[in-house]
Amino acid sequence: MTTVTALDTERIEAVSATLSGALFLPWHEHYDAARQVHNGLIDKRPALIARCLGTADVVAAIELAHETGLEISVRGGGHSVAGRAVAEGGLMIDLAEMKGIHVDPVARTARAQGGVIWRELNREAAVHGLATTGGAISTTGIAGFTLGGGLGWLMSKYGLATDNLLSAEIVTATGEVLQPSANEHSDLFWAIRGGGGNFGVATSFEYRLHPVSTVFGGLIAYPFDSAPDVLRLFREFTATASDDASMFAGLVHAPDGSGVKLSALLLCHTGTLEDAEAEFKPVLEFGSPVMTHVGAIPYPAMNMLLDEGYPKGALNYWKSTFIRALEDDALDALVASFAECPSPMDAIVIEHFHGEVTRIPAAETAVPHRTESYNVLIPGEWIDPADTDGNIAWVRETYAALQPYSAERRWLNYFADDDGADAVRAAYGPNFERLVEIKKRYDPDNVFHLNHNIEPG
Ligand SMILES: Cc1cc2nc3c(=O)[nH]c(=O)nc-3n(C[C@H](O)[C@H](O)[C@H](O)COP(=O)(O)OP(=O)(O)OC[C@H]3O[C@@H](n4cnc5c(N)ncnc54)[C@H](O)[C@@H]3O)c2cc1C
Repeated sequence: MTTVTALDTERIEAVSATLSGALFLPWHEHYDAARQVHNGLIDKRPALIARCLGTADVVAAIELAHETGLEISVRGGGHSVAGRAVAEGGLMIDLAEMKGIHVDPVARTARAQGGVIWRELNREAAVHGLATTGGAISTTGIAGFTLGGGLGWLMSKYGLATDNLLSAEIVTATGEVLQPSANEHSDLFWAIRGGGGNFGVATSFEYRLHPVSTVFGGLIAYPFDSAPDVLRLFREFTATASDDASMFAGLVHAPDGSGVKLSALLLCHTGTLEDAEAEFKPVLEFGSPVMTHVGAIPYPAMNMLLDEGYPKGALNYWKSTFIRALEDDALDALVASFAECPSPMDAIVIEHFHGEVTRIPAAETAVPHRTESYNVLIPGEWIDPADTDGNIAWVRETYAALQPYSAERRWLNYFADDDGADAVRAAYGPNFERLVEIKKRYDPDNVFHLNHNIEPG
């Protein structure tokens, strides 16, 4: 690792003078704010932060990293739980201020820069009654999210975020600027659709948009003791859900901080109001909810419904796995585990994959998860550092309890920092070898390795 003192400060100053953005050394007034990411558990100190404002700044930052020997990390929205956007002692290429968004309402496309978050893109697209698949919450960056696949409310109708990618601008390890698409550098275009930050710095993304303005959606919460029945209803409903209907199940806490445990169903429907009410009727009439907060809402608001549960700076440790089926035993194991969770912010979420996302062939992009299935996410979240060990232990125990039901497939975007090479293989399955070949072509020296790394062999 190269240290700050070993850096050629004159050279840094010279490069800094040419940038549209800025270089932050550790004593710079903006350094501490810039190195902080969403997950408060991440406390790394880069030797240098390149706050880029455009592609030329990114090219210059990569060149500077080569000259100084600093390892490169890349920060898009800074939301990854693993925290690899920040490099301890390295050079962090920080795109947080690259916020340009241009929507073409006629072509139904949007081009957005690498520091944009979903809330911002949703807002611009909504002006034209358009949207594309973003996440379950709105503060996540489009960059890491899309490069890792990107699942969300609209995936059953329109596929993953990455399935809606038309092209991107990528700065490679040698500083070359490429525009991969279906027609140009199509191998690279295949790899960045799921292959994470392994192939270069994505300075912008071009998305296909869809006519989505108001959806029918929201949340229904039930007492925790009805969780076994709620989860079985979820299984029954999702078995025949239309492409318009997305449903996730959650074991969650009341948002008032009381620590009261609840079971919940999260719904989103892209059809007409009448179709949505008809399809969700058995759900809307089920049991005795303690809260029913559903109705017609603008898609950007749907995407923000859960934001308050995930404040910046809270401590996070997550694990997830696809499971083979929602067997009774698996559901009961989840309920038993949630009963023991230590933090009033911990949750368990089951995400249903069906519809368009499962119709795309597994080899069409780097994301292989294309069968109808359920992904179980265990997002451990707490505030007090004294609770860290207990929460991490709970997430690990819950994950271990799921192993008998695991499909041995993993969702890349939810990795924690301790998810290593085995997890990466489980994220890519049959697509792994092709990713290695493309990595060899575009980044043979593994310059971009502070990520969920695909080694070039
Ligand atoms: C509260 C919360 C909710 C979430 N919800 C969802 C969800 O609904 N669906 C889902 O799929 N995921 C979800 N995620 C996971 C999220 O998609 C990933 O953490 C994703 O990496 C975030 O992207 P980012 O740009 O904000 O992250 P960052 O932390 O900035 O980046 C993560 C990694 O991506 C790479 N990277 C980022 N930007 C670039 C770039 N421009 N060029 C090259 N590489 C880059 C780097 O390797 C970096 O380490 C959620 C995460 C959180 C914390």
